Amino acid sequence: METETAKKIESRQIQLVSRPAGVPTVDNFELVTVELPPLADGEFLVRNEWMSVDPYMRGRMKEGKSYVPPFEIGKPLEGGCIGKVVESRHECFSVGDYVLGNSGWREYWISNGNSVTKVDPEVAPIQSYLGVLGMTGFTAWVGLKRIANLQSGNTVFVSAASGAVGSVACQIAKAYQCRVIGSAGSDEKILWLREKANVDEVIHYKETDDLSAALGSLAPDGIDIYFDNVGGEHLEAAIEHMNDFGCCVECGMISTYNATEPPAAPRNLFKVIAKRIRMQGFIVRDHFADHDEFLRDMSAWIRSGQIDWEESVTEGLDHAPEAFIGLFHGSKLGKALVRIG
Ligand code: NDP
Repeated sequence: METETAKKIESRQIQLVSRPAGVPTVDNFELVTVELPPLADGEFLVRNEWMSVDPYMRGRMKEGKSYVPPFEIGKPLEGGCIGKVVESRHECFSVGDYVLGNSGWREYWISNGNSVTKVDPEVAPIQSYLGVLGMTGFTAWVGLKRIANLQSGNTVFVSAASGAVGSVACQIAKAYQCRVIGSAGSDEKILWLREKANVDEVIHYKETDDLSAALGSLAPDGIDIYFDNVGGEHLEAAIEHMNDFGCCVECGMISTYNATEPPAAPRNLFKVIAKRIRMQGFIVRDHFADHDEFLRDMSAWIRSGQIDWEESVTEGLDHAPEAFIGLFHGSKLGKALVRIG
């Protein structure tokens, strides 16, 4: 166990200063410098190297009861991060260890080891534990394997298909010999989906007047699984073309996160009954008992070249708010990350 140094640690962190109305702006955030207390016995100090920005954080910026408490005004934001232990008075964590925690949006944090896991930089680049080998990859796996009961030969439609979750969902479905249709919002993303993720059909939804007609023409025999990251019109189109007894995996509804009015679509919800569609929401953290199985599957797919991934890296903690806001403008391909140092 390393001993405490006398040096005071100053840490910069991003705090929420106001709750966004609509799409967040940089004015909702502020960068402040705080001084961390000295380490107590059983604690260690982590210097963050990477942090994740995720759409779910928008939900925590709202007031009100949800599956996780809201962020507090004047307190640092939280989220997935990877850092290096730089000082330790903990018997299980040593200087030089890399750890995964939930104390993103800051340079340094002190931990007693609760809810912190070590990651092995020899196995994969450390930041992939925030993406393909981390929460977003696991979300894709849970949605398809535990919620949708994915079967070889299914026709699968994925929205936000080039994003952190969607890109992995597309490729898991391909690994199961499914026919995959992906929707995304830029030429670069469409190209990546075709060439790297090997999806069968793509929809550039921002250049499509009638999303439902476009989906219908690409899925003349209907779709069996819709992996929903977007909600709204994408969900309405999926319901329209869902086969009887199909499944809508309700992972996320990013098109509604900044809405100031209730969304108009889906207007065809009755068809859930007529087609006997199973529609199930899920929260990935309820499935951690399956995490080892996910890691075995994902490691095998990565080794065999069946899963590729992309990272959009923003440099510097001070630019983390822009990286987060970019999620709602579709400016990121693959996993959106911030390199802190
Ligand atoms: P992404 O990496 O997919 O980033 C968000 C993407 O969504 C953007 O790049 C953009 O891509 C697309 N998008 C943004 N606004 C809209 C819109 N109005 N209409 C259509 N597409 C839009 O994020 P993640 O992969 O991290 O997350 C995907 C979804 O999964 C989110 O809804 C998130 O909340 C959810 N999620 C759920 C979890 C769970 O436990 N249930 C866990 C983790 C994530 P484009 O250019 O294609 O528009």
